[in-house]
Amino acid sequence: MSDTKEFNTLDINYLRTLCESTGVSGFEKEVCEGFLSYLRDEVKDPHLDTMGNAIAFLSGDSKTVMMEAHADEIGFQVIHISDAGNIHIRANGGIDEQCLPGSQVVIQTQSRGLIPGVIGKKPIHLMKADDRKHTIETHHLWVDTGLSPEEVKSAIGIGDPVAFMPNMKLLGDYRISSKALDDRIGVFVVAQTMKRLAMMQSHLHTIAGVATVQEEVGCRGSVIASYSIHPDIAITVDVDFATDVPDCPSTQYGDILLGAGVVIPRNADADMALSRQMEQIAKDKGIPYQISARHRTTGGTNASKIQLTRDGVHTISLGIPCRYMHTPVEMCDLRDVEAAIKLMVEFCQS
Ligand SMILES: [Zn+2]
Repeated sequence: MSDTKEFNTLDINYLRTLCESTGVSGFEKEVCEGFLSYLRDEVKDPHLDTMGNAIAFLSGDSKTVMMEAHADEIGFQVIHISDAGNIHIRANGGIDEQCLPGSQVVIQTQSRGLIPGVIGKKPIHLMKADDRKHTIETHHLWVDTGLSPEEVKSAIGIGDPVAFMPNMKLLGDYRISSKALDDRIGVFVVAQTMKRLAMMQSHLHTIAGVATVQEEVGCRGSVIASYSIHPDIAITVDVDFATDVPDCPSTQYGDILLGAGVVIPRNADADMALSRQMEQIAKDKGIPYQISARHRTTGGTNASKIQLTRDGVHTISLGIPCRYMHTPVEMCDLRDVEAAIKLMVEFCQS
């Protein structure tokens, strides 16, 4: 990155740690424990709840603002090991099967830690002409670790999580690409906001910073976290589709650009008063932002689930524009990340 000065307020080392952590849905311990140890010196009552959500507080008055992002990433689990030592996997979350052949992965094992591997397939030369035109389904692929069948069987178990290989890259002056920006970039925004608020000591309400589990398999952890924290307001941070790529018509998806600011939603998942308030703060403080009216409830979002806990929660989901979502090369822009942190800090002080 040539222009790191611009982002000396961002702890890029922690962002790298987050992106290089392995946390397939249901196996987020490394990310959640890392979130707590990163904040431990500044927060009150850092803990993991029964599901594994990481929760930490900044003390304030009796009203609570929950800031949430999901710790998990899309990935796989081992479903079968062949006699030849090939490892067959099934998707855990909304994997894009078109990206799988030729990918590098890590298998998280009980006895030997992370074992690297590659997702193999039949050579194109041996495929029928018709088959070359179609996406290969996950169950026709396999992970090859280079280990002998005996080694594979002793080290790797059925159910072991499999994640894309850590691959964080800083590209150009502002861009970052990684396998797990969805939603480590959100966890990063929450953690940085907590740090800044702790340093400034100027927030009025109690703040709960939360890294939740199992979003990619049905938004499960956020429900439990919201129920136990019982917030008055919840702000979730997640990636949002950037439309500045080919074949993504504005007439269908609106205009969300990488580097043009944090996304403030106007949809049923967002409390309208909160949405207007966020926009006003962004305008007053000169924070770049974009408005999206896109519906984001396909498969549900954490915001939509938190909104429905107990007697209802005033909720909004701030978006970090992201290209290539659910592929190993998701891309975000650090200017949007800084804008999201600034907006959340200003909101908590307003
Ligand atoms: Zn997400």
